[in-house]
Amino acid sequence: MEITFSPWRLDYIKSDKKEEGCIFCKAMEGAPSFDNLVVLKAPNSALILNRFPYNNGHLLAVPKSHKDSLYALSSEERNELNQLLCYAEKAIRLIYQPNGINIGMNLGEAAGAGIVDHIHYHILPRWRGDTNFVTITGNLRVIPESLEDTYKKFRDFFEKDPPSF
Ligand SMILES: [Zn+2]
Repeated sequence: MEITFSPWRLDYIKSDKKEEGCIFCKAMEGAPSFDNLVVLKAPNSALILNRFPYNNGHLLAVPKSHKDSLYALSSEERNELNQLLCYAEKAIRLIYQPNGINIGMNLGEAAGAGIVDHIHYHILPRWRGDTNFVTITGNLRVIPESLEDTYKKFRDFFEKDPPSF
């Protein structure tokens, strides 16, 4: 058995300093860049790369509104988020060809939300045998992709085939 740690995950576990303000609201301010990890911007929402991914290609679909529940969003905002989920699914399927994809939302701390005040969907590519994201067992050697490489792949993908909203 071989144990491989994703270095950025380790940074996350070690880190105890909290950033000031809402990281999602801050990320939405500028144009897409590796700095804010926004890979696709829609009028009222964005697809953002998870800075501390469970797997390569882990995306977040985030509304612009700083709200802590789905029902607090307008139907227009919810519709756009749904479109973003579709574009995220397509990009992940074509770029990574995973065995599966999880799409879901954690509402509240007890449900596992890291950021409770600003709702967001997780779109997570899955591969057989990755059930424990940190520990990789068996003969397969998994080399984690750098966040820079992941960011570039998504940006290139959406630049080649820009979605319309
Ligand atoms: Zn916010």
